[in-house]
Amino acid sequence: MNADVVIVGAGPAGIFTALEMLKKGSRQKIIMVEKGQSIENRRCPKHQTNRCMNCKPYCHITTGFSGAGAFSDGKLSLSYEVGGDLPTLIGPDLAQETIQYADKIYLDFGADTHIEGLEYPEERKEIRKRAIQAGLKLVDCPIRHMGTEKAHDIYLGIERYLQDQGVEILFSHECKNLILENDVCKGVTVSDRRQDFEIHARHTVVATGRRGADWLEKLCAEHHIAHAPGTVDIGVRVEVRNEVMELVNRVLYESKLVGWPKPFKNKVRTFCQNPGGFVSQENYDNDLAVVNGHSYKEFKSDNTNVSILCSHNFSVPFNQPIAYAQKVGELTNMLANGQILVQRFGDILDGKRTWQKELDQSNIRPTLPDVVAGDITAAMPYRAMVNIINFIQAMDYVVPGFASVETLLYSPELKFYSNRVKMDTDFNTSLQGLHCLGDSSGWTRGLMMSSAMGVLMGRKLASFS
Ligand SMILES: Cc1cc2nc3c(=O)[nH]c(=O)nc-3n(C[C@H](O)[C@H](O)[C@H](O)COP(=O)(O)OP(=O)(O)OC[C@H]3O[C@@H](n4cnc5c(N)ncnc54)[C@H](O)[C@@H]3O)c2cc1C
Repeated sequence: MNADVVIVGAGPAGIFTALEMLKKGSRQKIIMVEKGQSIENRRCPKHQTNRCMNCKPYCHITTGFSGAGAFSDGKLSLSYEVGGDLPTLIGPDLAQETIQYADKIYLDFGADTHIEGLEYPEERKEIRKRAIQAGLKLVDCPIRHMGTEKAHDIYLGIERYLQDQGVEILFSHECKNLILENDVCKGVTVSDRRQDFEIHARHTVVATGRRGADWLEKLCAEHHIAHAPGTVDIGVRVEVRNEVMELVNRVLYESKLVGWPKPFKNKVRTFCQNPGGFVSQENYDNDLAVVNGHSYKEFKSDNTNVSILCSHNFSVPFNQPIAYAQKVGELTNMLANGQILVQRFGDILDGKRTWQKELDQSNIRPTLPDVVAGDITAAMPYRAMVNIINFIQAMDYVVPGFASVETLLYSPELKFYSNRVKMDTDFNTSLQGLHCLGDSSGWTRGLMMSSAMGVLMGRKLASFS
Protein backbone atom coordinates (compact mmCIF):
# COMPACT_ATOMS: atom_id res chain seq x y z
CA MET A 1 0.00 0.00 0.00
CA ASN A 2 1.10 3.58 -0.57
CA ALA A 3 0.23 6.83 1.16
CA ASP A 4 1.63 10.30 1.61
CA VAL A 5 1.25 10.07 5.38
CA VAL A 6 0.87 6.97 7.54
CA ILE A 7 -0.24 7.57 11.12
CA VAL A 8 0.29 4.74 13.61
CA GLY A 9 -2.20 4.98 16.50
CA ALA A 10 -5.65 6.57 16.34
CA GLY A 11 -5.51 8.30 19.72
CA PRO A 12 -6.03 12.07 20.06
CA ALA A 13 -2.51 12.84 18.75
CA GLY A 14 -3.01 10.80 15.56
CA ILE A 15 -6.62 11.89 15.07
CA PHE A 16 -5.85 15.61 15.36
CA THR A 17 -2.95 15.24 12.91
CA ALA A 18 -5.37 13.91 10.27
CA LEU A 19 -8.11 16.41 11.21
CA GLU A 20 -5.82 19.41 10.88
CA MET A 21 -4.44 18.22 7.55
CA LEU A 22 -8.02 18.09 6.25
CA LYS A 23 -8.85 21.46 7.78
CA LYS A 24 -5.88 22.97 5.98
CA GLY A 25 -7.25 21.58 2.71
CA SER A 26 -4.57 18.94 2.23
CA ARG A 27 -5.46 16.35 -0.39
CA GLN A 28 -2.67 13.99 0.57
CA LYS A 29 -3.46 10.31 1.02
CA ILE A 30 -3.63 9.54 4.75
CA ILE A 31 -3.70 6.00 6.18
CA MET A 32 -4.19 5.44 9.91
CA VAL A 33 -3.13 2.11 11.42
CA GLU A 34 -4.92 1.21 14.64
CA LYS A 35 -4.40 -1.95 16.64
CA GLY A 36 -7.86 -1.78 18.22
CA GLN A 37 -11.43 -1.45 17.00
CA SER A 38 -13.52 1.41 15.65
CA ILE A 39 -15.19 3.40 18.41
CA GLU A 40 -18.59 1.76 17.91
CA ASN A 41 -17.03 -1.69 18.39
CA ARG A 42 -15.05 -0.87 21.53
CA ARG A 43 -16.67 -2.57 24.50
CA CYS A 44 -15.32 -3.17 27.98
CA PRO A 45 -17.06 -6.33 29.33
CA LYS A 46 -16.65 -5.08 32.88
CA HIS A 47 -20.00 -3.25 32.58
CA GLN A 48 -21.67 -6.70 32.51
CA THR A 49 -19.27 -8.79 34.57
CA ASN A 50 -18.32 -6.19 37.22
CA ARG A 51 -14.77 -7.45 37.03
CA CYS A 52 -11.88 -6.98 34.64
CA MET A 53 -11.77 -9.90 32.17
CA ASN A 54 -8.18 -9.12 31.13
CA CYS A 55 -9.26 -9.07 27.46
CA LYS A 56 -6.89 -10.49 24.85
CA PRO A 57 -5.24 -9.51 22.58
CA TYR A 58 -5.76 -6.01 24.06
CA CYS A 59 -7.70 -3.97 26.60
CA HIS A 60 -10.63 -2.05 25.04
CA ILE A 61 -10.25 0.74 27.60
CA THR A 62 -6.96 1.91 26.14
CA THR A 63 -7.01 0.49 22.61
CA GLY A 64 -9.06 1.49 19.57
CA PHE A 65 -10.22 4.69 17.87
CA SER A 66 -9.57 7.70 20.16
CA GLY A 67 -7.06 5.64 22.14
CA ALA A 68 -7.14 5.99 25.90
CA GLY A 69 -9.52 8.93 25.31
CA ALA A 70 -12.75 7.08 24.47
CA PHE A 71 -13.46 5.66 27.90
CA SER A 72 -11.49 8.35 29.68
CA ASP A 73 -13.07 10.94 31.85
CA GLY A 74 -12.78 13.38 29.00
CA LYS A 75 -11.36 16.24 31.05
CA LEU A 76 -9.75 18.71 28.71
CA SER A 77 -7.12 20.72 30.60
CA LEU A 78 -7.12 24.18 29.05
CA SER A 79 -3.82 25.41 30.47
CA TYR A 80 -0.40 24.82 28.95
CA GLU A 81 0.88 24.20 32.49
CA VAL A 82 -0.94 20.86 32.61
CA GLY A 83 -0.68 17.77 30.43
CA GLY A 84 2.99 17.36 29.60
CA ASP A 85 6.23 19.05 28.64
CA LEU A 86 5.36 20.04 25.08
CA PRO A 87 5.57 23.78 26.01
CA THR A 88 9.28 23.35 26.78
CA LEU A 89 9.78 22.19 23.16
CA ILE A 90 7.56 24.66 21.28
CA GLY A 91 7.19 27.52 23.81
CA PRO A 92 4.30 28.28 26.19
CA ASP A 93 2.58 30.86 23.92
CA LEU A 94 2.24 28.53 20.93
CA ALA A 95 1.20 25.71 23.26
CA GLN A 96 -1.58 27.84 24.81
CA GLU A 97 -2.74 29.16 21.43
CA THR A 98 -2.92 25.63 20.00
CA ILE A 99 -4.79 24.34 23.06
CA GLN A 100 -7.44 27.03 22.49
CA TYR A 101 -7.63 26.09 18.81
CA ALA A 102 -8.00 22.36 19.57
CA ASP A 103 -10.61 23.18 22.21
CA LYS A 104 -12.74 24.88 19.52
CA ILE A 105 -12.60 21.66 17.49
CA TYR A 106 -13.88 19.69 20.49
CA LEU A 107 -16.69 22.28 20.81
CA ASP A 108 -17.52 21.92 17.11
CA PHE A 109 -17.94 18.18 17.66
CA GLY A 110 -20.31 18.74 20.59
CA ALA A 111 -18.29 19.23 23.79
CA ASP A 112 -20.09 20.97 26.67
CA THR A 113 -19.63 24.77 26.53
CA HIS A 114 -19.30 25.03 30.31
CA ILE A 115 -15.77 25.44 31.73
CA GLU A 116 -15.00 24.36 35.29
CA GLY A 117 -12.63 26.28 37.54
CA LEU A 118 -13.42 29.89 36.49
CA GLU A 119 -16.13 30.74 39.02
CA TYR A 120 -16.07 31.35 42.81
CA PRO A 121 -13.02 33.70 43.01
CA GLU A 122 -13.34 34.16 46.80
CA GLU A 123 -13.42 30.44 47.53
CA ARG A 124 -10.50 29.89 45.15
CA LYS A 125 -8.49 32.48 47.09
CA GLU A 126 -9.26 30.65 50.32
CA ILE A 127 -8.18 27.29 48.87
CA ARG A 128 -4.95 28.87 47.59
CA LYS A 129 -4.28 30.42 51.03
CA ARG A 130 -4.63 27.01 52.66
CA ALA A 131 -2.41 25.41 50.01
CA ILE A 132 0.30 27.98 50.71
CA GLN A 133 0.02 27.32 54.44
CA ALA A 134 0.37 23.58 53.76
CA GLY A 135 3.45 24.10 51.56
CA LEU A 136 1.62 23.17 48.34
CA LYS A 137 1.32 25.02 45.03
CA LEU A 138 -2.14 25.38 43.48
CA VAL A 139 -1.93 25.40 39.66
CA ASP A 140 -4.76 27.25 37.88
CA CYS A 141 -6.24 25.06 35.17
CA PRO A 142 -9.69 25.59 33.65
CA ILE A 143 -11.25 22.27 32.66
CA ARG A 144 -13.77 21.38 29.99
CA HIS A 145 -15.37 18.15 31.16
CA MET A 146 -16.72 16.00 28.34
CA GLY A 147 -17.56 13.04 30.60
CA THR A 148 -16.95 9.42 29.64
CA GLU A 149 -20.21 8.92 27.73
CA LYS A 150 -20.02 12.26 25.90
CA ALA A 151 -16.33 11.79 24.99
CA HIS A 152 -17.41 8.59 23.26
CA ASP A 153 -19.99 10.48 21.12
CA ILE A 154 -17.57 13.28 20.27
CA TYR A 155 -14.89 10.86 19.09
CA LEU A 156 -17.50 8.90 17.14
CA GLY A 157 -18.35 12.13 15.28
CA ILE A 158 -14.65 12.68 14.54
CA GLU A 159 -14.18 9.09 13.35
CA ARG A 160 -17.07 9.44 10.87
CA TYR A 161 -15.82 12.85 9.68
CA LEU A 162 -12.33 11.48 8.97
CA GLN A 163 -13.71 8.50 7.08
CA ASP A 164 -16.16 10.66 5.11
CA GLN A 165 -13.25 12.88 4.10
CA GLY A 166 -11.32 9.92 2.69
CA VAL A 167 -8.94 9.05 5.53
CA GLU A 168 -8.40 5.28 5.41
CA ILE A 169 -8.43 3.81 8.91
CA LEU A 170 -7.15 0.23 9.18
CA PHE A 171 -8.63 -1.15 12.41
CA SER A 172 -7.32 -4.36 14.00
CA HIS A 173 -3.99 -3.70 12.31
CA GLU A 174 -0.85 -3.59 14.38
CA CYS A 175 2.29 -1.80 13.33
CA LYS A 176 5.26 -4.10 13.78
CA ASN A 177 8.23 -2.05 12.60
CA LEU A 178 9.50 0.85 10.52
CA ILE A 179 10.75 0.46 6.96
CA LEU A 180 14.19 2.00 6.56
CA GLU A 181 16.06 2.70 3.35
CA ASN A 182 19.46 4.37 3.60
CA ASP A 183 18.64 5.68 7.06
CA VAL A 184 15.38 7.29 5.89
CA CYS A 185 12.01 6.10 7.23
CA LYS A 186 9.88 5.03 4.26
CA GLY A 187 6.82 3.67 6.04
CA VAL A 188 5.80 0.81 8.28
CA THR A 189 5.29 -2.95 8.39
CA VAL A 190 1.81 -3.87 9.54
CA SER A 191 0.07 -7.09 10.58
CA ASP A 192 -3.63 -7.85 10.31
CA ARG A 193 -3.06 -11.03 12.37
CA ARG A 194 -3.13 -13.20 9.24
CA GLN A 195 -0.26 -11.64 7.31
CA ASP A 196 2.31 -8.87 7.40
CA PHE A 197 2.40 -6.20 4.69
CA GLU A 198 4.09 -2.87 4.03
CA ILE A 199 2.71 0.65 3.83
CA HIS A 200 5.05 3.04 2.08
CA ALA A 201 4.74 6.73 2.90
CA ARG A 202 6.69 9.99 2.66
CA HIS A 203 5.93 10.73 6.30
CA THR A 204 5.45 8.29 9.15
CA VAL A 205 3.82 9.53 12.34
CA VAL A 206 4.05 7.26 15.40
CA ALA A 207 1.48 8.15 18.09
CA THR A 208 0.99 4.90 19.98
CA GLY A 209 0.16 6.27 23.45
CA ARG A 210 1.17 5.02 26.84
CA ARG A 211 0.63 1.43 25.83
CA GLY A 212 2.94 1.86 22.88
CA ALA A 213 5.74 3.42 24.94
CA ASP A 214 7.62 0.11 25.45
CA TRP A 215 7.35 -0.75 21.78
CA LEU A 216 8.58 2.68 20.70
CA GLU A 217 11.49 2.41 23.13
CA LYS A 218 12.55 -0.83 21.40
CA LEU A 219 12.25 0.82 17.96
CA CYS A 220 14.42 3.72 19.15
CA ALA A 221 17.10 1.29 20.30
CA GLU A 222 16.91 -0.86 17.13
CA HIS A 223 17.02 2.06 14.67
CA HIS A 224 19.24 4.40 16.72
CA ILE A 225 16.55 7.08 16.98
CA ALA A 226 17.80 9.73 19.39
CA HIS A 227 15.95 9.59 22.69
CA ALA A 228 16.52 10.08 26.38
CA PRO A 229 15.10 8.21 29.34
CA GLY A 230 12.46 10.40 30.96
CA THR A 231 10.51 10.05 34.18
CA VAL A 232 7.94 7.57 35.40
CA ASP A 233 5.29 8.41 37.93
CA ILE A 234 4.55 5.93 40.68
CA GLY A 235 1.69 6.55 43.06
CA VAL A 236 -1.72 5.64 44.33
CA ARG A 237 -5.32 6.49 43.54
CA VAL A 238 -6.97 8.03 46.60
CA GLU A 239 -10.72 7.75 47.13
CA VAL A 240 -12.80 9.67 49.68
CA ARG A 241 -16.47 10.47 50.05
CA ASN A 242 -17.79 13.46 48.07
CA GLU A 243 -18.64 15.24 51.34
CA VAL A 244 -14.90 15.52 52.09
CA MET A 245 -14.09 17.03 48.69
CA GLU A 246 -17.27 19.11 48.35
CA LEU A 247 -15.55 22.53 48.34
CA VAL A 248 -12.73 21.78 45.89
CA ASN A 249 -15.05 19.77 43.64
CA ARG A 250 -17.49 22.69 43.42
CA VAL A 251 -14.94 25.49 43.11
CA LEU A 252 -12.12 23.88 41.09
CA TYR A 253 -13.64 20.60 39.85
CA GLU A 254 -10.05 19.37 39.65
CA SER A 255 -7.47 20.48 42.20
CA LYS A 256 -4.02 20.62 40.66
CA LEU A 257 -1.77 20.67 43.74
CA VAL A 258 1.98 20.18 43.71
CA GLY A 259 4.31 19.66 46.68
CA TRP A 260 7.90 18.77 47.45
CA PRO A 261 7.47 17.03 50.83
CA LYS A 262 10.32 16.39 53.24
CA PRO A 263 12.65 14.57 53.59
CA PHE A 264 13.24 13.74 49.90
CA LYS A 265 11.73 16.91 48.40
CA ASN A 266 10.72 15.02 45.24
CA LYS A 267 7.88 16.47 43.20
CA VAL A 268 4.53 14.98 44.25
CA ARG A 269 1.25 16.07 42.64
CA THR A 270 -2.42 15.40 42.35
CA PHE A 271 -3.64 14.23 38.95
CA CYS A 272 -6.93 13.29 37.31
CA GLN A 273 -9.51 14.13 39.97
CA ASN A 274 -12.95 12.61 39.43
CA PRO A 275 -15.77 14.12 41.49
CA GLY A 276 -18.57 11.56 41.85
CA GLY A 277 -16.33 9.27 39.82
CA PHE A 278 -15.31 5.65 39.65
CA VAL A 279 -11.98 3.96 40.19
CA SER A 280 -11.14 1.69 37.25
CA GLN A 281 -8.65 -0.97 36.31
CA GLU A 282 -6.73 -1.13 33.06
CA ASN A 283 -4.59 -4.03 31.95
CA TYR A 284 -1.44 -3.73 29.92
CA ASP A 285 -0.49 -6.33 27.32
CA ASN A 286 1.95 -8.01 29.71
CA ASP A 287 -0.97 -8.58 32.14
CA LEU A 288 0.05 -5.72 34.40
CA ALA A 289 -3.08 -4.45 36.17
CA VAL A 290 -2.95 -0.75 37.02
CA VAL A 291 -5.49 1.55 38.61
CA ASN A 292 -7.05 4.63 37.02
CA GLY A 293 -10.21 6.71 37.47
CA HIS A 294 -12.94 8.37 35.46
CA SER A 295 -16.32 10.00 35.91
CA TYR A 296 -19.53 10.18 33.90
CA LYS A 297 -21.27 13.45 33.11
CA GLU A 298 -24.63 12.37 34.56
CA PHE A 299 -24.15 9.08 36.45
CA LYS A 300 -22.38 9.90 39.74
CA SER A 301 -21.03 7.85 42.64
CA ASP A 302 -20.80 8.97 46.31
CA ASN A 303 -17.02 9.23 46.05
CA THR A 304 -14.28 11.36 44.56
CA ASN A 305 -11.02 9.81 43.41
CA VAL A 306 -7.74 11.51 42.61
CA SER A 307 -4.31 10.20 41.82
CA ILE A 308 -1.22 11.15 43.83
CA LEU A 309 1.92 10.68 41.80
CA CYS A 310 5.64 10.87 42.57
CA SER A 311 8.02 11.46 39.67
CA HIS A 312 11.08 9.20 39.44
CA ASN A 313 14.23 9.87 37.44
CA PHE A 314 17.26 7.66 37.08
CA SER A 315 20.77 8.30 35.75
CA VAL A 316 23.69 5.85 36.18
CA PRO A 317 24.15 2.92 36.34
CA PHE A 318 20.42 2.24 35.92
CA ASN A 319 18.30 4.16 33.39
CA GLN A 320 15.23 2.06 32.64
CA PRO A 321 12.35 3.86 34.35
CA ILE A 322 9.63 1.82 32.59
CA ALA A 323 11.16 -1.46 33.77
CA TYR A 324 11.44 -0.10 37.31
CA ALA A 325 7.79 0.97 37.47
CA GLN A 326 6.68 -2.35 35.96
CA LYS A 327 8.47 -4.26 38.72
CA VAL A 328 6.67 -2.18 41.34
CA GLY A 329 3.38 -2.90 39.58
CA GLU A 330 4.08 -6.64 39.25
CA LEU A 331 4.90 -6.95 42.94
CA THR A 332 1.70 -5.13 43.90
CA ASN A 333 -0.36 -7.31 41.50
CA MET A 334 1.23 -10.42 42.98
CA LEU A 335 0.03 -9.46 46.46
CA ALA A 336 -3.52 -8.97 45.12
CA ASN A 337 -3.61 -12.13 43.03
CA GLY A 338 -3.46 -10.16 39.79
CA GLN A 339 -6.01 -7.55 40.86
CA ILE A 340 -5.77 -4.02 42.25
CA LEU A 341 -4.82 -3.67 45.93
CA VAL A 342 -6.49 -1.24 48.35
CA GLN A 343 -5.52 -0.15 51.86
CA ARG A 344 -7.00 2.38 54.29
CA PHE A 345 -4.75 5.35 55.09
CA GLY A 346 -5.15 4.74 58.84
CA ASP A 347 -3.94 1.16 58.46
CA ILE A 348 -0.83 2.37 56.63
CA LEU A 349 -0.03 4.68 59.56
CA ASP A 350 -0.73 1.83 62.00
CA GLY A 351 1.59 -0.50 60.07
CA LYS A 352 -1.08 -3.12 59.36
CA ARG A 353 -2.88 -4.51 56.33
CA THR A 354 -6.56 -3.72 55.66
CA TRP A 355 -9.16 -6.49 55.92
CA GLN A 356 -12.34 -6.71 53.88
CA LYS A 357 -14.47 -6.44 57.03
CA GLU A 358 -12.79 -3.10 57.85
CA LEU A 359 -13.70 -1.79 54.39
CA ASP A 360 -17.29 -2.90 55.05
CA GLN A 361 -17.37 -0.90 58.31
CA SER A 362 -16.37 2.41 56.66
CA ASN A 363 -18.54 5.30 55.43
CA ILE A 364 -16.86 4.88 52.07
CA ARG A 365 -17.55 1.96 49.71
CA PRO A 366 -14.85 1.30 47.07
CA THR A 367 -16.16 2.08 43.57
CA LEU A 368 -13.88 -0.61 42.14
CA PRO A 369 -15.92 -3.69 43.08
CA ASP A 370 -13.26 -6.38 42.58
CA VAL A 371 -10.51 -4.57 44.49
CA VAL A 372 -8.55 -6.66 47.02
CA ALA A 373 -7.99 -5.38 50.58
CA GLY A 374 -4.38 -5.80 51.69
CA ASP A 375 -1.08 -4.04 52.26
CA ILE A 376 0.22 -1.73 49.55
CA THR A 377 3.25 -0.81 51.68
CA ALA A 378 4.63 -4.34 51.13
CA ALA A 379 5.24 -3.47 47.48
CA MET A 380 5.61 0.31 47.33
CA PRO A 381 9.22 1.60 47.43
CA TYR A 382 9.99 3.36 50.73
CA ARG A 383 10.74 6.71 49.10
CA ALA A 384 7.46 6.77 47.15
CA MET A 385 5.47 5.68 50.20
CA VAL A 386 6.93 8.38 52.45
CA ASN A 387 6.33 10.99 49.75
CA ILE A 388 2.69 9.89 49.44
CA ILE A 389 2.03 9.81 53.19
CA ASN A 390 3.53 13.26 53.74
CA PHE A 391 1.70 14.72 50.76
CA ILE A 392 -1.65 13.32 51.94
CA GLN A 393 -1.06 14.87 55.35
CA ALA A 394 -0.35 18.25 53.73
CA MET A 395 -3.50 17.84 51.59
CA ASP A 396 -5.50 17.33 54.76
CA TYR A 397 -4.92 20.99 55.58
CA VAL A 398 -6.43 22.09 52.24
CA VAL A 399 -9.16 19.42 52.28
CA PRO A 400 -10.00 18.54 55.92
CA GLY A 401 -10.73 14.79 56.17
CA PHE A 402 -8.46 13.84 53.27
CA ALA A 403 -6.06 12.05 55.64
CA SER A 404 -8.77 10.25 57.61
CA VAL A 405 -8.42 6.64 58.77
CA GLU A 406 -10.86 5.33 56.16
CA THR A 407 -9.40 7.17 53.13
CA LEU A 408 -8.71 4.50 50.50
CA LEU A 409 -5.40 4.15 48.67
CA TYR A 410 -5.46 1.96 45.54
CA SER A 411 -2.25 0.66 43.99
CA PRO A 412 -0.46 0.45 41.61
CA GLU A 413 -1.07 3.74 39.81
CA LEU A 414 1.73 4.01 37.26
CA LYS A 415 2.24 6.49 34.47
CA PHE A 416 4.76 5.49 31.83
CA TYR A 417 5.97 8.64 30.12
CA SER A 418 9.54 7.74 29.68
CA ASN A 419 11.68 7.50 26.60
CA ARG A 420 11.44 11.07 25.42
CA VAL A 421 12.11 11.09 21.69
CA LYS A 422 14.47 13.90 20.71
CA MET A 423 12.84 16.17 18.12
CA ASP A 424 13.03 19.66 16.68
CA THR A 425 10.11 22.08 16.92
CA ASP A 426 8.58 20.57 13.74
CA PHE A 427 8.60 17.13 15.39
CA ASN A 428 11.32 15.74 13.13
CA THR A 429 13.15 12.90 14.85
CA SER A 430 16.77 12.03 14.14
CA LEU A 431 15.43 9.56 11.53
CA GLN A 432 14.39 11.42 8.39
CA GLY A 433 10.70 10.94 7.55
CA LEU A 434 9.74 9.87 11.09
CA HIS A 435 7.73 11.99 13.56
CA CYS A 436 6.66 10.92 17.04
CA LEU A 437 3.66 12.41 18.84
CA GLY A 438 1.56 12.23 21.97
CA ASP A 439 2.12 10.22 25.13
CA SER A 440 4.42 7.64 23.51
CA SER A 441 6.80 10.42 22.43
CA GLY A 442 7.25 11.39 26.07
CA TRP A 443 6.16 15.00 25.43
CA THR A 444 2.48 14.81 26.45
CA ARG A 445 0.40 13.25 29.21
CA GLY A 446 -3.16 14.24 28.51
CA LEU A 447 -5.97 14.49 25.99
CA MET A 448 -5.61 18.18 25.25
CA MET A 449 -1.84 18.36 25.02
CA SER A 450 -1.70 15.30 22.75
CA SER A 451 -4.50 16.79 20.60
CA ALA A 452 -2.59 20.09 20.36
CA MET A 453 0.58 18.25 19.34
CA GLY A 454 -1.45 16.53 16.61
CA VAL A 455 -2.76 19.90 15.36
CA LEU A 456 0.78 21.26 14.97
CA MET A 457 1.92 18.08 13.21
CA GLY A 458 -1.09 18.26 10.87
CA ARG A 459 -0.25 21.86 9.93
CA LYS A 460 3.35 20.94 9.17
CA LEU A 461 2.39 17.93 7.03
CA ALA A 462 -0.32 19.90 5.20
CA SER A 463 2.31 22.43 4.17
CA PHE A 464 4.07 19.71 2.11
CA SER A 465 1.17 19.18 -0.27
C1 LIG B 1 -8.86 5.54 32.15
C2 LIG B 1 -8.16 6.77 31.64
C3 LIG B 1 -8.66 8.04 31.95
C4 LIG B 1 -8.03 9.18 31.46
N1 LIG B 1 -8.59 10.40 31.70
C5 LIG B 1 -8.06 11.51 31.16
C6 LIG B 1 -8.67 12.78 31.31
O1 LIG B 1 -9.76 12.90 31.88
N2 LIG B 1 -8.07 13.88 30.80
C7 LIG B 1 -6.87 13.79 30.14
O2 LIG B 1 -6.37 14.83 29.70
N3 LIG B 1 -6.27 12.60 29.95
C8 LIG B 1 -6.84 11.45 30.44
N4 LIG B 1 -6.24 10.24 30.23
C9 LIG B 1 -5.00 10.21 29.43
C10 LIG B 1 -5.33 10.39 27.95
O3 LIG B 1 -6.31 9.47 27.56
C11 LIG B 1 -4.04 10.23 27.15
O4 LIG B 1 -3.09 11.17 27.61
C12 LIG B 1 -4.27 10.47 25.67
O5 LIG B 1 -5.25 9.59 25.18
C13 LIG B 1 -2.95 10.29 24.89
O6 LIG B 1 -3.21 10.38 23.52
P1 LIG B 1 -2.25 9.67 22.45
O7 LIG B 1 -2.86 9.93 21.13
O8 LIG B 1 -0.85 10.07 22.68
O9 LIG B 1 -2.30 8.09 22.80
P2 LIG B 1 -3.51 7.08 23.04
O10 LIG B 1 -4.77 7.80 23.32
O11 LIG B 1 -3.04 6.09 24.04
O12 LIG B 1 -3.68 6.36 21.64
C14 LIG B 1 -2.70 5.52 21.11
C15 LIG B 1 -3.35 4.54 20.14
O13 LIG B 1 -2.31 3.81 19.48
C16 LIG B 1 -2.72 2.46 19.32
N5 LIG B 1 -1.53 1.63 19.20
C17 LIG B 1 -0.58 1.39 20.14
N6 LIG B 1 0.40 0.62 19.63
C18 LIG B 1 0.06 0.38 18.32
C19 LIG B 1 0.68 -0.35 17.26
N7 LIG B 1 1.86 -0.96 17.41
N8 LIG B 1 0.04 -0.41 16.07
C20 LIG B 1 -1.17 0.23 15.87
N9 LIG B 1 -1.78 0.94 16.85
C21 LIG B 1 -1.18 1.03 18.05
C22 LIG B 1 -3.52 2.16 20.58
O14 LIG B 1 -4.43 1.11 20.35
C23 LIG B 1 -4.24 3.49 20.82
O15 LIG B 1 -5.52 3.51 20.26
C24 LIG B 1 -6.84 9.07 30.69
C25 LIG B 1 -6.33 7.81 30.39
C26 LIG B 1 -6.98 6.66 30.84
C27 LIG B 1 -6.41 5.31 30.48
